[in-house]
Amino acid sequence: MNNNIIRSLVVLLILSLTAFLGLNQIAAPNVLPKDAPADQFSAERAALHVEQIAKEPHSTGTVEAAKVRDYLLSELKKAGLDAQVQEADSARVSHGTVYSGHIQNVIARLKGTAGGDKAILIAAHYDSVQTAPGASDDGAAVGAMLETLRALQAGPQLKQDVIFLFTDGEEAGLLGANAFAKEHPWAKDVGMVLNFEARGYKGPSFMFETSDSNGWLMNEFAKAAEHPVANSMLYDMYKLLPNDTDLTVFKQAGLGGLNFAYAIGLNAYHNTLDSVETMDRESLQHHGSYMLSLTNHFGNLDSLENPKEQNHVYFNVFKHVLVDYSQAWVLPLTAVVTLLFLFVLITGLRRGDVWVGGLFKGFLGFLLAVGVTGGVAMGAWTLVNMLQSDLAYNLVNDPDFFSVYSWGFALLSIAVFAMMYVWIRRWTTTSNLMGGSIILFWLLTLAVTFLLPGGSYLFAWPLFFSLIGWYFLMKSRDGEIKTLQDAVIQTLFAVPAVLLFVPIVYLVLVLVTLELAGVVFALLAIMMGLLVPHLISLLEVRTWRFPIAMVGSALVIFLIAGFTLDISDKNPTFASVFYGKNQDTNKAVYATASPLDDPWLEQFLSDDPEKGKLSDIFNPLFTRDYRYAEAPEIKDEAPKLEVVSDTTQGDVRTLKVKLEPQRKATEYAVAAKTEAKVIGGSVNGKSFQLDVAEGKTFLVNYTAAPEKPLELTLQIQPGSKITLNVFDTTYGYPSVQGKSYTENPKTIMATKRVMISKKYEL
Ligand SMILES: [Zn+2]
Repeated sequence: MNNNIIRSLVVLLILSLTAFLGLNQIAAPNVLPKDAPADQFSAERAALHVEQIAKEPHSTGTVEAAKVRDYLLSELKKAGLDAQVQEADSARVSHGTVYSGHIQNVIARLKGTAGGDKAILIAAHYDSVQTAPGASDDGAAVGAMLETLRALQAGPQLKQDVIFLFTDGEEAGLLGANAFAKEHPWAKDVGMVLNFEARGYKGPSFMFETSDSNGWLMNEFAKAAEHPVANSMLYDMYKLLPNDTDLTVFKQAGLGGLNFAYAIGLNAYHNTLDSVETMDRESLQHHGSYMLSLTNHFGNLDSLENPKEQNHVYFNVFKHVLVDYSQAWVLPLTAVVTLLFLFVLITGLRRGDVWVGGLFKGFLGFLLAVGVTGGVAMGAWTLVNMLQSDLAYNLVNDPDFFSVYSWGFALLSIAVFAMMYVWIRRWTTTSNLMGGSIILFWLLTLAVTFLLPGGSYLFAWPLFFSLIGWYFLMKSRDGEIKTLQDAVIQTLFAVPAVLLFVPIVYLVLVLVTLELAGVVFALLAIMMGLLVPHLISLLEVRTWRFPIAMVGSALVIFLIAGFTLDISDKNPTFASVFYGKNQDTNKAVYATASPLDDPWLEQFLSDDPEKGKLSDIFNPLFTRDYRYAEAPEIKDEAPKLEVVSDTTQGDVRTLKVKLEPQRKATEYAVAAKTEAKVIGGSVNGKSFQLDVAEGKTFLVNYTAAPEKPLELTLQIQPGSKITLNVFDTTYGYPSVQGKSYTENPKTIMATKRVMISKKYEL
């Protein structure tokens, strides 16, 4: 074989193998069978609990939730624990909305030998949404807690106490966690929290969030977790997003802790697909592996006193191998990398291996290649959506689509980047081009060091090794990869970049989906900046061979995907339809915000639906664009509002109203609007602070069993009327006399709701 070809193959082989090892980091452990030793966690045993929990939707306040609660209580009793129910009203404000309700947490405490001044809190929510059986969200974690309890009891008694908290009302606004943190006497005993969640139905359970000052927690986590998958860069990114779980509430209450979730399969999130059948047993095993190994570890520490040390940097390097160090090292590492950068740069400039003009061209070329790669990915995404508009939902949410298309986009991006360098490589020497990439990497290292310290490792470590590579590159003949030896040396110094970047590109893709393909594949292009010498050596052999092979593979993948992937029972699409009755006008509509064209929707929308907002016709909150058609009126009524008292003292008007549902609704809401300033209020005596500007609508959500009425107090500045739009929600079809509905086909996951709204001016 020709030397050039052998050299190219060596480069490709090492890089592909590294990319594989990078992706392999994001993996769940193997499932342990039913007959695994008693002190170990078995997903098969835990799944038996999930089968009981996730038979049907069991949202807060429903009969089905009561059944799950009874199951938990009986299982805890079987385990010999004195389980209790914390029943409470709960209210909290998040992003300007009041979430409130009546919840029932299930709590049990496993005693340790130390006498128990501090305890480990294991938490997961046992409620589901109304539209999903909730096997993964959060039945898997609930089942894992019961299996973990069993495994703990089979081993030697721990030193520390363990509190098992099955929260209620998480989906209704973290209400159970809120009630526990604020009111339960055991909340002050909690030394640390382990919280478990899901936002999909498969994939590894990812330790995605910690409390702040996580030094101690991360130290112990790194020691104890059997199969750690965690990343401080993603945690820093997660903090920028408005996502909340029960841990948000625990953290606000000053408790420290770790948060775990698996997140592949967005189409299952709050959908019928979130069933025991789809729930990945490996994900369940991963939840349990953390739960048991960490509880055993923290439970045997002499103290759970969290010294609140500085945050850590942590990331996987190989499957279940975690690197973890204090952020105190971030600045010194950046300083070392900067010194090395200056040394290599100045050496190169002095010897004339690189020069300022050439480096500038390399820098510009790299920026351009990153921009074009991201732009093409974005354009290709738009094109795919145009060509397959009926698959829009699946392209974003369905993991079967996601995995295939992601490969297509990755190969396409590599091809585009390579093609850019077919052109850019003529601008200047390879050493200068690599220098340009290095300069941008160094600038990015500085930026993340100060802005996103948890992500500093992603730039600092690859840069460190690539700087050494660059040094050798400049010393080699012509400053290029010319021999097999050059190829091996250069490729080995690029291994850290690929090993660390590939899993991050994948995880960011999971987090933001292909909708942000432009951003994700620009990130991949940034990594490829450190592979410019390798790329050019591939282009030297036969200029177009490599990029064409990549484009060809991408096209084959897109073609196969286009012809084989379609909506089916196994890969359903999604639609949501509701019946909305305005009790003031006694007019009703069927409406949908789904773009889906399907005969099933036609029974509601007729042939020629109207289009527009429903804020005037139905309720002021419904400002999206809907397709809707007139619907027959049903007898059911909105919750009845009764003014209990309305008094003004000084600068504060206190309005107290009572709301009573007139049908079996567990969810209702009050959209309130006034020209006066709103200061605060209370729900069933649980007060909340609000800061709503004059004239802005704000929402009070309430979730409880239908027999629990809501007593709402609002404190507002006097002098202006307040408009309250009261509406409730039930799930299913409206019972219109003489009308029957065709059920949605299995190819559509459908949310069907009935909402009735009434306006009060007070
Ligand atoms: Zn959840």
